[in-house]
Amino acid sequence: MLFRQLFDSVSSTYTYIIASRHGGEALIIDPVLEKVERYLQLARELDLKLVKAVDTHLHADHITGLGALRDRTHCVTVMGEHSRADIVSMRVAEGERIEIEGVSLDVLYTPGHTDDSYSFVMDDRVFTGDTLLIRGTGRTDFQNGDARAQYDSIFGKLLKLPSETFVFPAHDYKGDTVSTIGEEKQFNPRLQVGSVDEYVELMGNLKLANPKMMDVAVPANMHIGLHQDEIARKGWAVSAVDAVLLRDRRDVAFVDLREKHERERHGSIPGSLHAPYHDLQENIAEGGMLHELAEATGKRILFYCAYGERSAMAVEAAQEAGIKTAYHIAGGVDAWKKANGPVTRQTSRLV
Ligand code: FE
Repeated sequence: MLFRQLFDSVSSTYTYIIASRHGGEALIIDPVLEKVERYLQLARELDLKLVKAVDTHLHADHITGLGALRDRTHCVTVMGEHSRADIVSMRVAEGERIEIEGVSLDVLYTPGHTDDSYSFVMDDRVFTGDTLLIRGTGRTDFQNGDARAQYDSIFGKLLKLPSETFVFPAHDYKGDTVSTIGEEKQFNPRLQVGSVDEYVELMGNLKLANPKMMDVAVPANMHIGLHQDEIARKGWAVSAVDAVLLRDRRDVAFVDLREKHERERHGSIPGSLHAPYHDLQENIAEGGMLHELAEATGKRILFYCAYGERSAMAVEAAQEAGIKTAYHIAGGVDAWKKANGPVTRQTSRLV
């Protein structure tokens, strides 16, 4: 396994790059905008293909690298379902997994620092974001923070992990890089409390100044969505309302780019084909299934995903690959449902 812990000295943020092998797929956790070039360089050096970029929560102290990485690599941006970020490509909930080739992260919802804080468990380690820090815990006094919820997240979820589990936080201000659950249980001064009320009182008396970047970072991080208007201007977008009217048309093929777990959880458009974003290049290339489908039948290819991010990137790629009948549903299944489009939970054909 390849595992890299990178540090941004301005915001004291840790960013993690994980892959199962050289030449394989990689994912990145909590990237910082100013460091994007460094991540891309490292990915090139290690011969990695960045396919997912994940934030543990909406950060207040730095601008996320999610949007820039998506624009540069066409990776899938991932956050938890409670995130207020305008549009990420994929939202995950507790019990779901974030998967790439050879790597799987279990999603835990651990609110408290913010109401959109998540932790990710991978084999022998956990990425705790700002929920649990080394000998500390994330502040709970802004962004819908809640000390009571944080106590439950830490005591009810994180400290229930095996004590030898490595703890990799999103920040450290003292130079520590890694800890374990057992170590934090024993030595973290904030966790030496007898009750939730004691914890709430402790967190209420910290009197911290707001992060310097807060007024800039929070609004910026809420608007990392891909600008789908550009795709619309090129005439490649279909509104969800119009897409519903195209549902029974024989000359239109609906193509779902989402992953299996998203389809199971949120349903899919009846009769649509399943061609995961992961395999897009293969499917749209000369000889690929979607290329052939468009060529042989002249059908309009109508891509869709969760919120229109992956499908917007797919349209662009498909048009570039010569599929001139490629369009996408602006806003994805989310918009489709709001337009009263029907969904089914039955499995449909895999391309
Ligand atoms: Fe934070």
